[in-house]
Amino acid sequence: MSNRAFNFCAGPAALPEAVLKRAQAEMLDWRGKGLSVMEMSHRSDDYTAIAEKAEQDVRDLLSIPSHYKVLFLQGGASQQFAEIPLNLLPEGGTADYVDTGIWSRKAIDEARRYGNVNVAASGKAHDYLAIPAEAEWKLTPGAAYLHYASNETIGGLEFDWVPKANAPLVVDMSSDILSRPLDVSQFGMIYAGAQKNIGPSGLVLVIIREDLLGKARAVCPTMLNYTVAAENGSMYNTPASYSWYLAGLVFEWLKEQGGVAAMEARNRAKKDRLYGFIDASSFYHNPIAPAARSWMNVPFRLADEKLDKAFLAGADARGLLNLKGHRSVGGMRASIYNALGLDAIEALVGYMAEFEKEHG
Ligand code: PMP
Repeated sequence: MSNRAFNFCAGPAALPEAVLKRAQAEMLDWRGKGLSVMEMSHRSDDYTAIAEKAEQDVRDLLSIPSHYKVLFLQGGASQQFAEIPLNLLPEGGTADYVDTGIWSRKAIDEARRYGNVNVAASGKAHDYLAIPAEAEWKLTPGAAYLHYASNETIGGLEFDWVPKANAPLVVDMSSDILSRPLDVSQFGMIYAGAQKNIGPSGLVLVIIREDLLGKARAVCPTMLNYTVAAENGSMYNTPASYSWYLAGLVFEWLKEQGGVAAMEARNRAKKDRLYGFIDASSFYHNPIAPAARSWMNVPFRLADEKLDKAFLAGADARGLLNLKGHRSVGGMRASIYNALGLDAIEALVGYMAEFEKEHG
């Protein structure tokens, strides 16, 4: 019997138990080699096989075309906020950004250090509860790229469509990658911090179209240069080797589950159940425009915020962990990434109903 709690943390988030067990079983002695993956040379044949398999599996899962490079980098998604302009925004050029919340604004603030940023659209007028209609976006002719965050982890706001632009699309998919199928060919670059649907924090996955390589500024640090990373198989220096291995175990698990199509069905059932419950209740509330509601991060408020503490304490006592909303937003947030099943949602909804009965 497992005594694992249901972990609704936004990140680092729950990992599939089967993956953790596999890592545990292989921890001291990887496949009879007498050492842990953590202790292997990243140049060894064994590790090369692990790294290549992880890349191939994520290529299979997302049907990544061969003219895209897949990079396993470090520094989390936040470091990409600087790496993107350093690699893709020429001096004097302009990049378009869409502001839909805290993460896209962080990307905007960082990019401004390196060049001209045009905020083509902002969710501010909608209090960040809806995505501005594409017809209102003010795109720059000849922009180096258009950046947006497909899922705002804190606000709980997700695109269920892909913007159209002449410039290459650069998208922060940290909190929704692998949650449903995706047409990679619509994007110039996709990046995702690992600690939600991929693996341990610190690692960041970058999928970049080959024609976008070779454009880095002269001042771009070697370690932040995508071309250097691509030419060296993400091993210009010692990579985050153990995290990469764990990401590989998650990709294998995803394939066993039926891949991203199976995840889509499961995630749809999960979010429908949770939003359905919230909408049917007059005690809980989610303010996001229905079309923009995140499948992965569900913020909600109680009718009286004075009850927040009691709600969280009761949840903790039942093994429903990390439901507190981000400090900038308050209220609650349930992050329901791939590793959580419908059983986690049922446990949460059961508790929410019980709490409402007692306090509503
Ligand atoms: N973008 C999004 C959408 C995120 O959710 C996060 C982390 N929660 C980040 C970027 C930053 O990621 P990291 O902490 O790996 O730098």
